[in-house]
Amino acid sequence: MESTNIAAQKEQVQIVWKKRPLIISGPCSAETEEQTVETAIRLQKTGKVDVLRAGIWKPRTRPGSFEGIGTKGLPWLQAAKKATGLLTAVEVATPKQAEDALHFGVDILWVGARTTVNPFSVQDLADALRGVDVPVLIKNPINPDLELWTGAVERIDRAGIKDIGLIHRGFASYGNSEYRNAPMWHLAIEMKRRYPELPFINDPSHICGKRDNLLEVAQKAIDLDYDGLIIESHIDPDKAWSDAKQQVTPERLGEMLNEIIWRKEDVPTIDHATLEKYRQQINHLDDELLQLIAQRMKVADKIGAYKKDNGLTILQTNRWNTILEKAVAKGEKQGLSKEFITKYFDAIHMESIAHQNKIMND
Ligand code: PEP
Ligand code: MN
Repeated sequence: MESTNIAAQKEQVQIVWKKRPLIISGPCSAETEEQTVETAIRLQKTGKVDVLRAGIWKPRTRPGSFEGIGTKGLPWLQAAKKATGLLTAVEVATPKQAEDALHFGVDILWVGARTTVNPFSVQDLADALRGVDVPVLIKNPINPDLELWTGAVERIDRAGIKDIGLIHRGFASYGNSEYRNAPMWHLAIEMKRRYPELPFINDPSHICGKRDNLLEVAQKAIDLDYDGLIIESHIDPDKAWSDAKQQVTPERLGEMLNEIIWRKEDVPTIDHATLEKYRQQINHLDDELLQLIAQRMKVADKIGAYKKDNGLTILQTNRWNTILEKAVAKGEKQGLSKEFITKYFDAIHMESIAHQNKIMND
């Protein structure tokens, strides 16, 4: 009996793991049994949620705020699962937490952003999970370091975990920002490129830190071909014991999921010839851009030689300012953002400096 139950559970986990979009929702923290079970029931009523998330151990930046209900909350998740059939997911940061979560039948574990930053903690978790058949989602580290994120994937992978997924929850940045954690989409895109086969989930809640632009961030993730979303929900968001500002009611979550325009990487029935034609144009233009940039660097080499012969510095700040200002003005007229032009010209300039440096010092 026991073993057939386990087999059925594993099968359900496999089905959900492959579902697209994969939708995970639930409170930042499990607070009481009623809150946990009622959230699950109301989420299940939306018909759109696959997995109930709930924080049991909360890694708080500063001591003194609610640090999670602890192991006693795990049976509440079991009760919620029994009432709804939703799978359950919990953040674990230590071997003991992983062991407790598995003991109480949690279906999916996730490694939080404050754990991914620490290779010792990730390795301890990986060692504890060796030989266990449970999917593990790995959040990006708090700081924008893809090597740490990659390292965490490698450690969990080497422990033999076969179902690994990634959660993009944004990166802490210093100073004011419209986000609680800056999405830095380019980093997420690079991680997706490194691991195209791993489910890639977006966490608009921790990116936004407030309810207002959850939908916008979720839509952007879907437009970028993410495999799913993890969004915090609470039966009474303003009274939540943690992350109150960013949580929404299960009903609001349901509405948001309805409002999202779900796109796919490929729709077999469309006319691929049109897309192919545009892609060829893009490829052609990219080739031309590369050739032009290479030509530009050849000129930089000549300038480097000239500066060397005449004892001039490589960096000529005034000249560079003029180039940049003109480019920004021209670019904006052509519909290119100031941010893009600045990044683009910075990259070109750094490459040009590297070329001149080589000429001068070879
Ligand atoms: C959470 O999911 O509630 C959480 C603590 O997330 P993160 O690790 O992304 O801060
Ligand atoms: Mn949270």
